[in-house]
Amino acid sequence: MTETVFDVAIIGGGPAGYTAAIRAGQLGLKVALIDKSAKLGGTCLHVGCIPTKALLFNAELWESVNDAAKFGITGLGTPALDWSAVLKRKDDVITKHTKGLDFLMKKNKVTVFAGTGKLTGGAKSGIHSVELEADGAKSSLYAKNVILATGSIAKTIFDLAPDDTILTNVEMLSLPAVPKSLIVIGAGAVGVEFASIFKSFGTDVTILEFLPRAVPVEDEDISKELTRLFKKRGIDVNTGAKVEKVEKTKAGVKVSYTDANGNAQSKEAEKVLVAVGRAPRTENLGLEKTKIKLDRGFIAVNEAQQTAEPGIYAIGDIVAGLPQLAHVGAMSGVVAVTKIAGRPFKPVRKNRIPGCTYSEPQIGSVGLTEAQAKEAGHTVKVGKFPFAGNSKATIINNHDGFVKIVADAKYGELLGVHIIGPQATELISEAVIALELEATIDELMFTIHAHPTLAESMLDAYAAVDGMAINA
Ligand code: NAD
Repeated sequence: MTETVFDVAIIGGGPAGYTAAIRAGQLGLKVALIDKSAKLGGTCLHVGCIPTKALLFNAELWESVNDAAKFGITGLGTPALDWSAVLKRKDDVITKHTKGLDFLMKKNKVTVFAGTGKLTGGAKSGIHSVELEADGAKSSLYAKNVILATGSIAKTIFDLAPDDTILTNVEMLSLPAVPKSLIVIGAGAVGVEFASIFKSFGTDVTILEFLPRAVPVEDEDISKELTRLFKKRGIDVNTGAKVEKVEKTKAGVKVSYTDANGNAQSKEAEKVLVAVGRAPRTENLGLEKTKIKLDRGFIAVNEAQQTAEPGIYAIGDIVAGLPQLAHVGAMSGVVAVTKIAGRPFKPVRKNRIPGCTYSEPQIGSVGLTEAQAKEAGHTVKVGKFPFAGNSKATIINNHDGFVKIVADAKYGELLGVHIIGPQATELISEAVIALELEATIDELMFTIHAHPTLAESMLDAYAAVDGMAINA
């Protein structure tokens, strides 16, 4: 019997890997998808994007129900939170989408292998051999191309291993009860999303961020507004905080840190979340047998996601120089398989990637921050429009935040858009398209936005670049 030779073998079944597999199937390629878990979906579906957003939706509902009287809805009695039912709903969302992925694999004729994939070296006569280990048994799988999509894992500090007090994104999602108090180390997306969710459920939340501002990858004005609004919600945000020690106590945990003024401080809580970034999972992949060299664990690729080893591609969180986001992983997978199929593609461009943080308030941003635009040599013009001037924001009783536009003064080229406030993660999509199509402020100022919508804030913000917002 002749051994099957796949056109492409993909190692890792998260959003990068499964998206690549589906598109490869659509392009008529013979695809193998290898994942060590029997359940496809990776971090995003099982312990990342999807469960956190499911909990966030509960948090929003919970706050709305508690606020119902404000909207003339009375007679609800005292609402109660059934935490196990909250977790079950989150798990149901995951299960539904896991089954959805199994269906999509069948639909696109992707052969799924449950096991660990490992490279065995470069291709021989154009064919790669991938070692597959499942239940202790090893076998080989052959493919003309291999895509590495093994994702990332939460980093830790002081070599602390996660347990029921010291938590990462994984443990946070199955807490047996809502903790009374929580210290969050790191104010990136993971940290601020969990801080926001658990504050809504009644937890006393303290954030300790090492850098001088929260969400440090965002525009400075966004960091300031997030800190202001989090503090207004009662979240204790500490920036410039250097964590010195994390100790277990009888009641939970004590974190000692040096504050921004150089003073020694400490804080006790029931739980601590360590959210200090994610490390690429590139160990034990057999890379040492290839030409691929790691840069702090990440893999360098070209515009087609090709690594230094012919026929081997890398996508998703393991790629050097791209943000670790599910949608970046997915698009880098599309790019890789489109290249493999010999079709034209557009590379993933850093300035065209939306960043979305699903906290309350939400953040959506794309392109250059004001500081980055200035550093890049642009003469910058900025337009800012507060949601306070937007009628839909008032209708939904959520008018904190603003839309900030960064444009080049010369021709009004749109360079960046930074939104904090209601539905920011949805609103940002129009800005991504505007950047993709190289829109100018003049064009955007004459683009009709429906009334009353939150999206009108975008129109007002474009006009604000020339000092002509209608509603401010
Ligand atoms: P991150 O790198 O985005 O943020 C980590 C934060 O921790 C940084 O602000 C950093 O300065 C701080 N930090 C590092 N060491 C510290 C220390 N010892 N003490 C205090 N602060 C410290 O990482 P993350 O928030 O863990 O997220 C990991 C990845 O997953 C990121 O790429 C993130 O964008 C992505 N993610 C995205 C979303 C989303 O798009 N909504 C949600 C979750 C995670």
